[in-house]
Amino acid sequence: MNCQEALNLLYDIVDNEASEVDVQNVREHLKNCEDCDGVYRLEQTVDELLRARLENPLATPQLASLKTKVLGQLDEIDCE
Ligand SMILES: [Zn+2]
Repeated sequence: MNCQEALNLLYDIVDNEASEVDVQNVREHLKNCEDCDGVYRLEQTVDELLRARLENPLATPQLASLKTKVLGQLDEIDCE
């Protein structure tokens, strides 16, 4: 997996379209890729998002704000 694929999958994760395998692959990439070092915090936010979604599958304001946060960070990364 290259960095672009990892970032694309992050978008899928945020949109609830990624499989568990995809999530694992992204986590592995973030662990092993120095270029994506700056994304590490984002991964933690994604974890937060996934956990919140598990605890409450219905859309909540909390989920919406987490999603906005993740997408904002992804946009910043794209600009680099
Ligand atoms: Zn990378």
